Amino acid sequence: MKCLECGSSYARKVGPIVAKDKVVGKYKIPNAEYFECKNCGDRLYPFKTCQLLDKERLKTMKKRLNMKFEKYEHHGENVWVRSDLKGKHRENCLCMVCKKLDVMNSKKNCPIANAVFKNCKKFNLVTPMWECPKFDEKK
Ligand code: SF4
Ligand SMILES: [Zn+2]
Repeated sequence: MKCLECGSSYARKVGPIVAKDKVVGKYKIPNAEYFECKNCGDRLYPFKTCQLLDKERLKTMKKRLNMKFEKYEHHGENVWVRSDLKGKHRENCLCMVCKKLDVMNSKKNCPIANAVFKNCKKFNLVTPMWECPKFDEKK
């Protein structure tokens, strides 16, 4: 197979792979198959290697963020939550500091917030609003 970058050819290799991304930083798998261009160094990863990298990425992310999970009863339903974020949905929700939120009057309340709340009720979710195009800061 010809290199997608320079047209040269790939060599099959087996060895350690170091990957990196913005959220997780560096992570490494010890021994996996890959193809590397003899000329420009471009790499192709077979599906199995991609799976190993994904698994390692998840493991590293959980470790770096010290992610733990727990189950507890919320509004009569057993739900899962990240332990470090339990009970923090309000302080992370844009709606809490938005002029358009009016929980006392669902007719006047923001239609987006109403729709999200309806969905939360339906599936027993807690969904803090992280980003919103209609946000209007309450001063
Ligand atoms: S406009 Fe956005 S941030 Fe404001 S209440 Fe509605 S959903 Fe929440
Ligand atoms: Zn190349």
